Amino acid sequence: MPETDALNMDRLRRETAAYGARLGRRPSACVVTFGCQMNARDSEKLLGVLLAAGFKEAADETADLVVINTCTVRENANERLYGHLGHLNSMKREHPEKLIALCGCMMQEADEAEKIKTKYPFVDLVFGTHNLYRFPALLADRMAGGGRVFELWDSPKAIVEDLPKKREVPYRSGVNISFGCDNFCSYCIVPYVRGRERSRRLEDILKEVCELADDGVIEIMLLGQNVNSYGKGLESPVSFAELLKQVCAVEGIKRVRFMTSHPKDLSDALIEAIRDNEKVCRHLHLPLQSGSSRILKAMNRRYDKEGYLALTERIRAAVPDISLTTDIIVGFPGETEEDFEETLDVVRRVRFDSAFTFIYSPRTGTPAAAMPDQVPKEVVKERFARLLDLVQKIGAEESGRDVGRILPALVEGLDAATPGRVTGRLGNNVMVHFPGDASLIGQIVDVHLKEVRGFYYIGEKV
Ligand code: SAM
Ligand code: SF4
Repeated sequence: MPETDALNMDRLRRETAAYGARLGRRPSACVVTFGCQMNARDSEKLLGVLLAAGFKEAADETADLVVINTCTVRENANERLYGHLGHLNSMKREHPEKLIALCGCMMQEADEAEKIKTKYPFVDLVFGTHNLYRFPALLADRMAGGGRVFELWDSPKAIVEDLPKKREVPYRSGVNISFGCDNFCSYCIVPYVRGRERSRRLEDILKEVCELADDGVIEIMLLGQNVNSYGKGLESPVSFAELLKQVCAVEGIKRVRFMTSHPKDLSDALIEAIRDNEKVCRHLHLPLQSGSSRILKAMNRRYDKEGYLALTERIRAAVPDISLTTDIIVGFPGETEEDFEETLDVVRRVRFDSAFTFIYSPRTGTPAAAMPDQVPKEVVKERFARLLDLVQKIGAEESGRDVGRILPALVEGLDAATPGRVTGRLGNNVMVHFPGDASLIGQIVDVHLKEVRGFYYIGEKV
């Protein structure tokens, strides 16, 4: 584990002070995050580094330093970045000392990084997912005036534990339990840009959770591309179910969530750990991707329609009030109307509370991008609309099933729409609005759910 100095924080502090002297003020920084919870957690590390170095946090991209943590899971994420860059360029023309840094998954794609290098000369610093911990050193290099800095590694070299972090909210935190992914679903770019799966050591995870609890965190979200395969490559292998139990045992932690669960690796031991542990939130995100066994095979998901349905039945039998949500891709190459009907069938049978629905996006370098029979755009659009209709109809029918119950809610903030009310999140991830003030923020309180409005409840604190 590196000492703080090995991270180059002292050097970064000196260069930040010198940059501030050139500007004639304390420099400001803004980290913009695209993509998933993993990126959100990485951004907390980036911001933690910047605040520790002497930057102040800015609310928007008018900041002196803008860091964009990119995503590349679907093509529209890439398009969003290029849209942003045009805007940042015009800001930099007005403020030539402005610094622009790009990092994250999209930068791990060699073609994209090359394009930034040659066509976007106003970008000052580019690094990737594997060398995120080199951020202090690389930013210091750039501020020292050594020209543009591009550092990209093909693969990770170490798990570095000690980067400073700035949490988005004081009472909740994500905690990485593993990085990368070994599953190689045929449509997915994640294993190529995040590398092979590496689990953090159990002791390091528990140490972080204890420190967070001491710092006032009551809700933990354990993060991994496939949390269910946690612990495999460790010197002393540990199962995810065991890790979950140990995290729940940390004093001060009141709620534990996790994301994402691959259906093929969800064990009965995990179902029991959820059932037997009240701290584990009654919400499971279980990506389906497709309801057709034929398409699931082509996606390399390694479960079939029947297996998925049987799994959801086992989960519901053990934990009847659990909320199930999912991810579904429409228009995977070769998807026929019959295949799509199978997806609708699973949605009707499982009755998800909600689902993220995606139009299949070919990612260069993945096996699916080279598959024949890419589905025509109009067909995909029409199927996507049908799926969305069904998901929303079932979600609306399912919402409100807890009316009349008293359930604990973690108060997240004031209700922006109605003065005198606060907004809380139930264990099953549904929101509830009820009378209260700012003193409740960050607390878990029992709320009587009185009525449902669309997808949220109106309640009253008990
Ligand atoms: N590891 C997680 C899992 O397996 O569920 C998900 C990671 S991925 C960032 C989130 C979701 O993006 C996936 O569940 C999938 O539905 C979607 N996705 C990934 N690649 C995609 C692609 N090429 N086109 C459309 N959606 C995609
Ligand atoms: Fe991508 Fe599949 Fe890994 Fe999820 S499990 S990150 S979808 S390869």
